[in-house]
Amino acid sequence: MGSTYLRQQTRLSSTEPSIDFRALTEACPDAVIQLCPQRRPIYASPAITTMTGWDPDELTVGKTGFFHAEDITAVHASFDLAEGQPAGSERAVFRIITRTGTAIWVEAMIARIAAATGLFHGFVMTLRDISDRLHYEAQLEILARQDSLTGLANRREFDLAFEREWAVARRERQPLSLVLADLDRFKLLNDRYGHSAGDTCLKAVAGILKEAARRPADIAARLGGEEFVLLLPRTHEAGARTVGEQIRKAIEDLRIENADAKDHGGILTVSVGVVTAISVDGPSSITPARIIEAADRALYTGKQSGRNRVCFSRLTEKDCPGLANASLAAN
Ligand code: GH3
Ligand code: MG
Ligand code: MG
Repeated sequence: MGSTYLRQQTRLSSTEPSIDFRALTEACPDAVIQLCPQRRPIYASPAITTMTGWDPDELTVGKTGFFHAEDITAVHASFDLAEGQPAGSERAVFRIITRTGTAIWVEAMIARIAAATGLFHGFVMTLRDISDRLHYEAQLEILARQDSLTGLANRREFDLAFEREWAVARRERQPLSLVLADLDRFKLLNDRYGHSAGDTCLKAVAGILKEAARRPADIAARLGGEEFVLLLPRTHEAGARTVGEQIRKAIEDLRIENADAKDHGGILTVSVGVVTAISVDGPSSITPARIIEAADRALYTGKQSGRNRVCFSRLTEKDCPGLANASLAAN
C-alpha cells in the first residue's frame, strides 16, 4: 500500500521541519485515493474506512463493485474529463457501496497527476460523504413547500402546481376547478379566545381541506392567514360545487365556538368561492391569476350575501379578459 508520490517529503529549508505529505493525507477527513492510469486504486487514506467500512488494503487489491452499478458510466466519464485536463479537478457526485452493502452519496474531486517528466501518471481522487447533506437538503425542500402551521402546501407550492395543472388541463381540454375558502369573522375568534386557540382552529380546518383533496392531483394549500384553497384538476362544475359545500358543512359541523360571530349562531363558519375554468383548444386568455380572481369574486359575493355559503363562478374563454362578465350564481 502507498506510493512514492505520497511518501515523498519536501524540506523547505534546513531549519524548517519537513512537509509530511502522508501525515497530511491521513489527517484529512475526506478519503484520498490514488489510482493508476487504468483507474485501479493503489492507495487509499484511512478516512475511507470511516466512510465506507472498507479497509484501504481491500480497495487496492482490485476490489470490484466499489462504485454503484448505475453510476459507473458517469464515474468513468468524469475520469475521462479529468484525464484530458492538465490542471484543476473534475467534480462528480455518485454513489459508492459500503462494506455493509448500502449505497452512500459522495462528492468526488478527480485530478490527473503527471510524473516529473510530464507523462500521465494516474489520478488523485478525494471523496466526501454527502449523504447527510443530501438528506437535509431534501428535508429543506419539503419544508420550503409546506405551510409550517398546518402542513398543507404553501402559496409557492400551490402556485407552481396551479401553473402545471392548468397547462395540463388546456392540453387535455379538461375543466379545472378551484375552491377558495376564507373563515368567517376569524378576527373575532382570535380576539376573544387568543391566537393560540386560533391556530388550533386553523389546523382543524386544514385537516378538512386535506381530506377533501381525494385524488392524487388534488392539492390543498393555505394561501395565508385564514384563507385556504383546494385545486381540483379534471373536475367539472357539479363536482366542485359539491366539494365546496362539503367543506363548508364540515367546518360548520366542527361547532367551534366563535361567540362574537352572532350572525352564525356563535360558531365558526366559512365562506367558499368555487370556480370552474373551461379550457379550449388553441390560444387561451384564461390564466391561473384570472381563475383566482374569479374565485375571489365568488368568495366576495358569499361574504356580501351573509357568509357561511358557497358561491360559484364559471370561467370560459369569452369571460376573459373582461372578467366582469363571468357568470356568478350564489347557491
Ligand atoms: P371575514 O368574515 O370578512 O373574512 O372576517 P375575518 O375576521 O375572518 O377577516 P379579517 O381579514 O378581518 O381577519 C382575519 C384574521 O385572521 C386576522 C387575524 O386575527 C387572523 N389570522 C391571520 N393569520 C393567522 C394565524 O396564522 N393564526 C391565527 N391564530 N390567526 C390568524
Ligand atoms: Mg376571514
Ligand atoms: Mg381573509
